[in-house]
Amino acid sequence: MFVRGSGTELWDANGKRYLDFLSGIAVTSLGHAHPAIADAIAEQARTLLHVSNFFANPVATSAAVAVDRLLGGGGQVFFCNSGAEANEAAIKLARKFGGRGRHVVVSALGSFHGRTLAALAATGQPAKHEPFQPMPEGFRHVPFGDLSALEASLDDTVAAVLLEPIQGEGGVIPASEEYLRLVREMCTERGILLILDEVQTGFARTGRWFGFEHAGIRPDAVTLAKGMGNGMPIGALWARHDVAGVFAPGDHGSTFSGTALATAAVLATIAEMERIDAPARAVAQGARLTRGLEAMSKVASVRGRGLLLGAQLVDGVDAKEMQAALLSSGLVTNAVTPTTLRFAPPLNVSDEHVDEALSMLSTVLS
Ligand SMILES: *Cc1c(COP(=O)(O)O)cnc(C)c1O
Repeated sequence: MFVRGSGTELWDANGKRYLDFLSGIAVTSLGHAHPAIADAIAEQARTLLHVSNFFANPVATSAAVAVDRLLGGGGQVFFCNSGAEANEAAIKLARKFGGRGRHVVVSALGSFHGRTLAALAATGQPAKHEPFQPMPEGFRHVPFGDLSALEASLDDTVAAVLLEPIQGEGGVIPASEEYLRLVREMCTERGILLILDEVQTGFARTGRWFGFEHAGIRPDAVTLAKGMGNGMPIGALWARHDVAGVFAPGDHGSTFSGTALATAAVLATIAEMERIDAPARAVAQGARLTRGLEAMSKVASVRGRGLLLGAQLVDGVDAKEMQAALLSSGLVTNAVTPTTLRFAPPLNVSDEHVDEALSMLSTVLS
């Protein structure tokens, strides 16, 4: 039970100190209790919290403009409260865009898109579907990275392809740049939407503002959440103007959509990330952490990009056991698969804290 945090450090109820190399699952990307974000939230709480989506507020408007600018412009933004809701909105948008009979969303095996019913149906993990069958109709899964399997699935019932640039929950598995480029072409040729789920990879986590930038492509729609508010619960769907325009008033909404409090956190998070050049920090500290991990005999390989990394452990080393042992020694990580430890420290993590984490890892692993 954690009671307090500051930057990369956490303290539990017994006063024990930890280094947080998970960031609440890639959420507190600027660290805990960041003074600029805390001030923005506090000031907004004293100014205007919420007016519902019947009215505009200047904070949500500015946050939408900032998100659109980071994504390259030319789009519209719908704010919601989580990654799953962002994907729900994207799936509804794809269905309206495709029209009746052309409503299928194709996603990848091993993907994770959230826990609500449609987002779960899009999630390519059959075991997660099982207790809740039947799943909603209109979802199809293909092996991640397999271009011909994707091509074979794209019949005239398909409205959209939904992919993560790096499968986060699936074990930190990056899509190749080539795959993403060819998927982009394939979708363009067929008039199918390419929706990228950047809930985990967005907001500088991979060393670019968004994961798709590594492949040099532009998606038609992007879903966002996790790091966007540095811990304030908020998600968003961004879509190209002409795609977003298929939603008519009343088609979609949320009482808390674009609430001033959460969008104030978004504005402050983006401003601080730009001030410190967060993508460059992710590149630099990602390289430092990767180098250290690769030097460890119990680490077979390191996957991922920037500060979204998965250390594949050698045969016989159990990631869950390591996660527990690391936690006792004061390092928060996550066994994202039975053989992979995931690391997602704050993007502004210091050299000293990376080195301290590596030293704990080295001791525990050996
Ligand atoms: C975490 C995650 C989600 C779900 O986000 P929630 O805020 O938990 O609903 C969706 N997609 C990806 C890629 C994620 O990592």
